[in-house]
Amino acid sequence: MTIPTVYVTSELNASFTCESCGKSYTKDVSKFVRHKARVRLKYKCKCGHIFSVILERRRTIRKDVCLKGVLMQNEKQYPGEITDISPNGLRFKTLRKALIKEDSTAEIKFTLDNPNCSEVRRFIKVRKVLSEYSFGCEFESSEHFDDLGKYFLFYF
Ligand SMILES: [Zn+2]
Repeated sequence: MTIPTVYVTSELNASFTCESCGKSYTKDVSKFVRHKARVRLKYKCKCGHIFSVILERRRTIRKDVCLKGVLMQNEKQYPGEITDISPNGLRFKTLRKALIKEDSTAEIKFTLDNPNCSEVRRFIKVRKVLSEYSFGCEFESSEHFDDLGKYFLFYF
């Protein structure tokens, strides 16, 4: 038996249906969303049926974006833009040719296109040099507890 996966809404609710009688529920899952990417929850329906759902708060799909940012490495600054982003990493395009090596670490600062235009700073690892202008980067951690975490939850 496969356990159904449910997604967290922007109101921090999740909706699911009892597989036995078809009654649907919307539950407040706000207390779970900060902990783990996936949480297994157990519910008892009014009909007596007990069932589990997997609460998925993170979607690992990449999103094409256009976010202005600066990559910083060895006291050099490379202004440019993020062209796609996921909780695991991003692709950064520099305005000028950049001598950035594969597997080197750097810091990145960028502005989100959320209503607050939040500024985000992260340490990253350059995983792939795609050209002298384009770099595939990985976040140090794929857990984001600031506005970037909310961005992945609600603007994806
Ligand atoms: Zn039921």
